Amino acid sequence: MKHRKPPADDDRRRNLTDEQHRITQRGGTERPFSGAYVDCKLDGVYRCVCCGIELFSSDHKYDSGSGWPSFWLPLAEDRVQVRRDVSHGMIREEVRCFNCDAHLGHVFPDGPKPTGLRYCINSAALDLDSESAED
Ligand code: FE
Repeated sequence: MKHRKPPADDDRRRNLTDEQHRITQRGGTERPFSGAYVDCKLDGVYRCVCCGIELFSSDHKYDSGSGWPSFWLPLAEDRVQVRRDVSHGMIREEVRCFNCDAHLGHVFPDGPKPTGLRYCINSAALDLDSESAED
């Protein structure tokens, strides 16, 4: 079953902080252990900070020791796109939001079973929708 993609949310994008903009729109990387969600253990869904679609679940988050939030699976296959990135003298697989093309991070083949993948994602690209949060 195909769902129509929601439009990118211009209001959200306009309200990005400089750090969120540098990372999501210019392919930047936050310093390791600096992001808000590195050690976050709250239950919930991590949304794209730029367009709001649900990208990752806390169910698939694990402590990789890398200094960035790490997931072994996206919420669904059609939430992210992966492309070859040869910048900075490395060959890496870049992870972007499928909906709005925001840069999220990279995926590496050294994650836990069953996927063996580590989606290494910048906190600044994410917005946690916590189940336990009270507004
Ligand atoms: Fe997005």
